[in-house]
Amino acid sequence: MTRLMHRSLVSTPPVAAAARGIEIFDAQGRSYIDASGGAAVSCLGHGHPAVLEAMRAQMETIAYAHTGFFTTDIAEKLAEMLVEDAPKGLEHVYLVSGGSEAVEAALKMARQYFVEIGQPQRRHIIARRQSYHGNTLGALATGGNEWRREQFRPLLVETHHIDPCFAYRFQQEGESDEDYAARAANALEEKLLELGPETVLAFVAETVVGATAGAVPPVADYFRRIREICDRYGVLLILDEVMCGMGRTGTLHACEQEGIAPDLMTIAKGLGGGYQPIGAVLVSSKIYDAMKAGSGFFQHGHTYMGHPMAAAAAVAVQETIRRENLLSNVKAMGSLLEERLKARFGNHHHVGDIRGRGLFQAIELVEDRASKRPFNPSRKVNAAIKKEAMARGLMVYPMGGTIDGVTGDHVLLAPPFIVTQEDIDRIVDRLGEAV
Ligand code: PMP
Repeated sequence: MTRLMHRSLVSTPPVAAAARGIEIFDAQGRSYIDASGGAAVSCLGHGHPAVLEAMRAQMETIAYAHTGFFTTDIAEKLAEMLVEDAPKGLEHVYLVSGGSEAVEAALKMARQYFVEIGQPQRRHIIARRQSYHGNTLGALATGGNEWRREQFRPLLVETHHIDPCFAYRFQQEGESDEDYAARAANALEEKLLELGPETVLAFVAETVVGATAGAVPPVADYFRRIREICDRYGVLLILDEVMCGMGRTGTLHACEQEGIAPDLMTIAKGLGGGYQPIGAVLVSSKIYDAMKAGSGFFQHGHTYMGHPMAAAAAVAVQETIRRENLLSNVKAMGSLLEERLKARFGNHHHVGDIRGRGLFQAIELVEDRASKRPFNPSRKVNAAIKKEAMARGLMVYPMGGTIDGVTGDHVLLAPPFIVTQEDIDRIVDRLGEAV
């Protein structure tokens, strides 16, 4: 019996005993290719010497200082680096310890901003049904996946969900991208008008929908339309790039490819590459300046925010990505991965769709390719694929219930940015055997 409380209370996962590069080794020395990067986290792979060295040096300098008393050079350096490459207008950085904390901070910042500028009636949040924004209660209320939320009602934040968010576009063939983008964006405007736009705080969305829908990129022009609608009604746009951001899709921020900038953006996972828990909110000067001129204080904080060890790991990870020009590898290997997946599974009877951007790709598993009919959820197909993949030394990220909260199966691939052509071939071969 294990004393450690795992997610599953009836089974214990294998012991991860060591890791190097793109592989994790269990206690018996079996190797697993980390083709999911954990949960799209390990962008540099494991044991990168530059990161280990930076963390060692930081530990010897100062490992912890509470932000209520001090700032540190390393946290300031990370903020500088992040702002240097941030989408236009995002000029400040709020450091936290992970994705959910970043989402909570962004929601509270949005709320405080409107209180301070004299619009306290803005309290509704609009988000999308096929989305995940974290597991703390505010973030859980914001995400739209009903099966995750139902037993925790009443949720603490008032959120309203709209459809669609591109997931399962393959089920709606025949509609042009332009019409689809317009229809998807209009869903936001309709919801705003229904609620009364002056009562709405923010629209929250993942730029490329991650775990819950399976690496679904936006349709061209969708986010430009969304940005326009938000501006028209004075609603903040919060992009959650916790999973799809920090280089995963081939550009540092996924929204660069959409040609827009949000008012607040959450990042985490790839920011520290798994070496330390870290997340951040990138904050627009509009919000920062108003709060500074108002109360001059953000009414929020966590014990470990701006942690020097986490900042040191993130600086080293981000410097390494730049020094080794890894975003061009993400683009090249991402295209190769997509190509190989299409070649291998394009005609597979049980594969309904293959999609993604950069090293963020997913295959959708269906009962029957022609009708795209999903599997009966009782068959737990995505979990079965994960199990079969693990048995073959491959980590993939499974997810079910992603179409309507009940049906839908996909597995997500998000390997480290250092993967080679040979690694991609091994990943696709093992996945093929598992499927
Ligand atoms: N937002 C998104 C888009 C995510 O994918 C996740 C994690 N899967 C989170 C927020 C929550 O991050 P964390 O698990 O670090 O709290």
